[in-house]
Amino acid sequence: MKIYLDTIGCRLNQSEIETMARQFRAAGHEIVASADSADMAVVNTCAVTNDAASASRGKIRQIARAGVEKIVATGCWSTLQPQKAYDLPNVMHVISNDRKDHLIADVLDLSQKSFDLEPITREPLPGLHRRTRAFIKVQDGCDNQCTFCITTVARGEGRSRTVADIVLDIQSALDGGAKEVVLTGVHLGSWGYDFDSHLTELTKAILRETDVPRLRLSSLEPWDLSNEFFSLWDDNRLMPHLHLPLQSGSASTLKRMRRHTTPKSFRELVFAAREVIPNVAITTDIIAGFPGETEEEFAETLDFVREINFAGGHVFTYSPRPGTAAARMKGQVKPELRKKRNHILHDVLEESAIYYREKFVGRNVSVLWESTSEMGEQGWLMEGHSENYLRVNAFAPFPRWNEVDQVLLNETDGEKMKGVILKSG
Ligand code: SF4
Repeated sequence: MKIYLDTIGCRLNQSEIETMARQFRAAGHEIVASADSADMAVVNTCAVTNDAASASRGKIRQIARAGVEKIVATGCWSTLQPQKAYDLPNVMHVISNDRKDHLIADVLDLSQKSFDLEPITREPLPGLHRRTRAFIKVQDGCDNQCTFCITTVARGEGRSRTVADIVLDIQSALDGGAKEVVLTGVHLGSWGYDFDSHLTELTKAILRETDVPRLRLSSLEPWDLSNEFFSLWDDNRLMPHLHLPLQSGSASTLKRMRRHTTPKSFRELVFAAREVIPNVAITTDIIAGFPGETEEEFAETLDFVREINFAGGHVFTYSPRPGTAAARMKGQVKPELRKKRNHILHDVLEESAIYYREKFVGRNVSVLWESTSEMGEQGWLMEGHSENYLRVNAFAPFPRWNEVDQVLLNETDGEKMKGVILKSG
């Protein structure tokens, strides 16, 4: 059969459809780039915000209109709303998150053992979801109950994959040509808690047992990290970029969010990281307009974000998710005020991001090229990310997709940097 795989939302969802592609190929099926030519499609849905849930439904309807008669819905939204998923056109199977590892066997009515993943390398997906970097799932679920979070509801309790399985996956991605591996999970920093280990040990094992050229860590909850954790960056294959969700800079708001961090401990962690990792990019996530957020609390968050001087990040307008404690809280902030606070926070965050980018004008970075477009006389316009996650553009005489080059950065260009390729590797 021709199989089309699609996803909405996080890197974990992307990593899961990359694994499904390997499993379908191991079971003798072909992965196609678009729904138009597919016999079956799998959509990995998302429920993190109302918009993501609605985009998931829209994606399924679009694939049905493209003529695919067998659609499989999986992921967070369809796990939370299975009946609504079955009500969508051509949905034949709804596979919940806890059955996702068995999805191929379930929808093809095969025993899990009937196909062997081993010989199948992990390759970039064809079409829209083609990525140079391999997203590797190391854990799933979360044991925390942050009051705004629906993911912990949809993904269940925290569970870690073994070092051996993760190293095998990474080796398969390297055999498939990947130059950068990104470790991902629902709560990445909790890897190993279920067998008395820690992400530090996993990272050491990956750096010891593979020759991965570039290893990147996805979002990390601040309370999982100790100052010793940063000594891992003695190995320069570990990318100097830490994404640490702050969510709020106000201690009282963090308490209502049930976050295991405070502005004080967050500040200490950031300073410890900057002490040890040269030029480290610290990015973040912040929620604007959390229930009960007063003008004073919002002002605390603004001051704190200015003080920390992040290299960038995302600001989310609080979105009440049915089934979360925060959605039932008193003092819901008016939607227009949430949006207004989002814009103010976004501008403050962007100010420090510009400051961080400008520090790299005139410096060399190593860039993995992720997309390319032909630009006539000027050659090919490449776009990619540096080791500290700067988005970089440069021209090349021929396409250099999935290649790593040394680049001299010579100017900032909005949210990107412009540079000149010095040499490859
Ligand atoms: S730690 Fe992350 S995944 Fe877990 S409940 Fe909090 S926000 Fe959700």
